[in-house]
Amino acid sequence: MKISEYFKKDRCVFSFEVFPPKKDASAETIYSTLNSLKSLSPDFISVTYGAGGSAADNITGEIASYISSGLGICSAAHLTCVSNSKEDIDIILDDLKNKGVENILALRGDINPDRPAKNDFKYASDLIRYIKEKGDFHISAACYPETHLDSPDMITDIRHLKEKQDAGAEHMISQLFFDNELFYSFLEKARIAGITVPIEAGIMPVTNKKSIERMVSMCGASLPAKFTRMMAKYENNPEALRDAGIAYAVDQIVDLVAYGVDGVHLYTMNNPYIAEKIASTVSGIL
Ligand code: FAD
Repeated sequence: MKISEYFKKDRCVFSFEVFPPKKDASAETIYSTLNSLKSLSPDFISVTYGAGGSAADNITGEIASYISSGLGICSAAHLTCVSNSKEDIDIILDDLKNKGVENILALRGDINPDRPAKNDFKYASDLIRYIKEKGDFHISAACYPETHLDSPDMITDIRHLKEKQDAGAEHMISQLFFDNELFYSFLEKARIAGITVPIEAGIMPVTNKKSIERMVSMCGASLPAKFTRMMAKYENNPEALRDAGIAYAVDQIVDLVAYGVDGVHLYTMNNPYIAEKIASTVSGIL
């Protein structure tokens, strides 16, 4: 099933994101995580792509295929292009097609000094155009409510975002944010710029202080005062911080749904406990 089908219904789409197990971890953990997430009935689950893998060993596709064929839930495979040649992308696209994965979140990927860029694709829009030519995939793209870190300003970033829609992206998922007002302001500008595809809000619940600090330093999300107060109050009490993080994410989602966003994409951090707490609280309001 293509993701676009879910946005035809008159309600807020609710989706999850998971990541493949680290190289030294057991592959089994992700399957038990997914089996637990199934009961929460997300509209779709997307699987991240690690720049370290090879095209032949497409673990992202393997997991996405399990989600769609094994669990009967719509899945999307993330795919980055900056470290892949056209040949690599061809291998992955063939593999995804053979595995019945119909949705791709097409990304540039971060520039990694340890892994030199190949020169076939410079931006996500190049990959989107290429996938569009190659097959019948639904293509999603990433967007940045607080502007992508490489971009000089929001208007330039939104202009490039529009290029992704023009190249064939039919849906966007946002970078995580903790201040809904920044997301609404971005949405307004994106719509004025002619971006008409559904835009899902990316929500990451705090699981622990370290992981959130790492994510925030990587993506530059602003931290509202009420968020930093929460972190400071519970930083030495992991369970209380986790519960406060769940409450904060629920509060964000309630406001997003009331605003009328197209969808909410929950970065589950492969943690079914947190996903369950959030999903069971918001399921009645979507
Ligand atoms: P692009 O859309 O190519 O944009 C990158 C930068 O280039 C932006 O600053 C943009 O303004 C600029 N730009 C675009 N076009 C042009 C142009 N024509 N001329 C000049 N500048 C231009 N990373 C992973 O490695 N694996 C994942 O699975 C993954 N999943 C993600 C999921 C989501 C929802 C998000 C938000 C991010 C994800 N990322 C992932 C991170 C992502 O790869 C990085 O943020 C990366 O730096 C940018 O990718 P992009 O697809 O947004 O790039």
